[in-house]
Amino acid sequence: MDIRTRKRVLNLRAQKRSDIEKYLSEIGEKVYRATQIIRWLWQKGETDIMKFSDLPLSLRKKLSEDYFVYSAKPLSIKRSSHDKSIKFLLLLLDGAEVESVFIPDGKRRTVCVSSQVGCPLKCTFCATGKLGYKRNLEFWEILEQVRFIQNYTGERITNVVFMGMGEPMLNMDNVLDAIDLLQENDAFRIGARKITVSTAGIVPGIYRLLEYGKQVKLAVSLNTAIQEKREKIMPIAKRYPLSELRKAVMDYYKVKKRWVTFEYIHLVGFNDTPEDIKALKRFIEGIPCKINLIPYNTFKGSPFREPTEEETEEFLKKLYKLKATVTLRKSKGRDIKGACGQLAYLK
Ligand code: SF4
Repeated sequence: MDIRTRKRVLNLRAQKRSDIEKYLSEIGEKVYRATQIIRWLWQKGETDIMKFSDLPLSLRKKLSEDYFVYSAKPLSIKRSSHDKSIKFLLLLLDGAEVESVFIPDGKRRTVCVSSQVGCPLKCTFCATGKLGYKRNLEFWEILEQVRFIQNYTGERITNVVFMGMGEPMLNMDNVLDAIDLLQENDAFRIGARKITVSTAGIVPGIYRLLEYGKQVKLAVSLNTAIQEKREKIMPIAKRYPLSELRKAVMDYYKVKKRWVTFEYIHLVGFNDTPEDIKALKRFIEGIPCKINLIPYNTFKGSPFREPTEEETEEFLKKLYKLKATVTLRKSKGRDIKGACGQLAYLK
């Protein structure tokens, strides 16, 4: 549609750089002004177009006629009393709600973003999976979570992890568009190495990330290396069995030469048996990787319980014998239900 006949008003934040450039050239403006607009939208977080002060007044007026700037509205903000993490429930333009978590740790300022409203994958240990799937998030709705938290906390965000609600690899177009802007100097200036995409094991998604030219980190939510067990807790394992998943991860490593992280949620009595350790050893053989053990965070109706510290310590000792780097993720934000697998609008 010709831009001049397009009905007022579009959300300027939902426009990619190419859309803004096209618009500018259609109205006879300099295309480089797209950079200034992007800075106002994402770096400075300004919502009033008339305050885009380095643009000529005539352009600001024209932009205001054609666009508005949507900012996510906070429905709730919960601060952890155990650590400094903060969980946000944000309202999007169409009334959808998403959760995002701010996790400060040392010099790192990480935002855990959602990529879908709900999730279709129904992993049995995950609260989000119980919600069902509503829709994919648009690229700007992913970015808006980072932008909102950056403005709210006044802290420059240094890392982004796609580990919130949803399976990012079922929404790769938007996830990759968001990652492009996360890296842009005029937007968030976050290096690809500081961005992690975590998947439940969507094999075609891993290959898409592999083809994406940047060094984005890959994390795989593994949770067991025994096929039958994995199918029980992660139904997606039937579609993409461990053999295919392993090959995709190997291929990713061969191209990117970056260690892959396997997340392993500790489900007491289910995935911490001697057979599990043996299967895990076989699975990671030849894959330079890190195993990130995550003590399970329970929720109402969950079929699993939280491990005690002793149980996790015991399991860790066994994992340390594997030829891999093993780390224990101290789940942040447990008390605000902002920890791994807990993002489901839980109070
Ligand atoms: S663990 Fe991830 S992929 Fe599985 S249901 Fe939860 S959000 Fe979806």
